[in-house]
Amino acid sequence: MAGFVFSEKPIGIESGEGVTLTANDGTEYLDFGASYACVPLGHRHPEVQAATQEQLAKLTFVQASYPVESRTRLYENLAEYSPGDLNEVWLCNSGTEANEAALKFARHATGDSKIVAMMRGFHGRTMGSLAATWKNEYREGFEPLAGDFEFVEYGDEDALEEAVDDDTAAVIMEPIQGEGGVNPAPPAFLRAARDVTEHHGAALVFDEVQTGLGRTGSLWASDQTDVVPDITTTAKGLGNGLPIAATLCKEWIAENAGNHGSTFSGGPVPCAAANATLDTLVEEDVPGNAAEMGEYLRDRLEAEIGDEVRDIRGEGLLVGVEVKRNANAILKDLALNHQILALPAGRTVVRFLPPLTIEEEHVEEVVEAMVATVGE
Ligand SMILES: *Cc1c(COP(=O)(O)O)cnc(C)c1O
Repeated sequence: MAGFVFSEKPIGIESGEGVTLTANDGTEYLDFGASYACVPLGHRHPEVQAATQEQLAKLTFVQASYPVESRTRLYENLAEYSPGDLNEVWLCNSGTEANEAALKFARHATGDSKIVAMMRGFHGRTMGSLAATWKNEYREGFEPLAGDFEFVEYGDEDALEEAVDDDTAAVIMEPIQGEGGVNPAPPAFLRAARDVTEHHGAALVFDEVQTGLGRTGSLWASDQTDVVPDITTTAKGLGNGLPIAATLCKEWIAENAGNHGSTFSGGPVPCAAANATLDTLVEEDVPGNAAEMGEYLRDRLEAEIGDEVRDIRGEGLLVGVEVKRNANAILKDLALNHQILALPAGRTVVRFLPPLTIEEEHVEEVVEAMVATVGE
C-alpha cells in the first residue's frame, strides 16, 4: 500500500446516497460524520450533481483572472449570504488555506503581526494555521511554525483583553470549537472579542469551517450572536463534497490585503457545486432542519443516556457526547455492530456531524445504537 498519513478503516466505501454510505460488501452505513461535515446536503445531492456535471461538460478549468459565470455567481452568492458586511470574497480549496489567507490579510491590512488564538482551537495543518492550532499532538516535530502567536483560554474575557494590544493583527477563534471537544463560546466572550479587537484596530476572525453553512442551525454560527467579525472563513461543506473554501472579508481588509494568490482559486466546477449547495441550503431552509433535528437529537440522547454520559452539548447538528470511556472504542462499536459512522473530538467526545437533511428516523437509529453501546 502506498498511501500514508491516514490510517485506513476496515470498511471500503463504494457509493453514497443521502445519509447512507454503501460499502464494497453491500453493507449500508448511516453516515453521522458526513466525512467531517463535507456533505451538508447528503451524498450525491441531485441539484449539486446536476450543476457539477453541467459545468464539467462546458469547462473544467480556467484561471481566476478570466471571469466565468459560475465563479462570478459564487462571489455574488457568498457576498449576499455572508455575515453582515463581509462582502469581499477570496476563494481557495481547503479550510487551512482559507485561514492562512485570513491571517495574511489581517497582518497586511493592520500592519501588525501578533495573532491571538484560543487554547483547544483548531485551524488546520499548514504552517500558519498550525501556528494558531493549540494541540501539541498536531504541532509536535514541525516547529518552528509561523511566529508571534499567543494563546488564551477559550471563554476567558480577562485573558483575552490582556493579550490583545496595539501590535495585534488578529484574534482568531471558532464560535464553537469542533475538534477541541464541541465547546460553544459564551456569548459574552464573543462580544468581548469584538470590542477589544475594535478598540486596538485588530481583525476579528471567525473560523466557521466547521460551524458554517447551516451546521449550527443558522447559516453561520455568528448569526446567532450580535457579533459580526471582520473575516469569516468557510470550507468543508461549501461544495457538498468538492474541495472549495472561502475567506469572507470586510472592505477594510480586502482593500489592503496584500499580494496573495493560488492557481486553483475559484475553479468553475467546485464553484458550480458551491452555488448549488448554497442555493439549496437557503431555498429549502436546511439550517432550520439542522436546528430542529439537532435539538431533537440532543433531547433524545439526554432522555435515553443522559445519566450514563458526562455531557451532551452542541448547537444544531454539531453535537458532542462526552462519554466516560474512550470515545474511539464507542465509535468502533457503533460502526462495526450498528453500522453508524461518527467522529471523535478528542479522547472522550463522540461527535455527530450528519448531513443537515436528516430526519427523525435517523436520529432514532443513532439513539438506539448509543443506548446499546454506552450502556454496556
Ligand atoms: C477542518 C477544520 C479546518 C481545516 O480544514 P481543512 O480543509 O482540513 O484544511 C480548519 N478549521 C476548522 C474549525 C476545522 O474544523
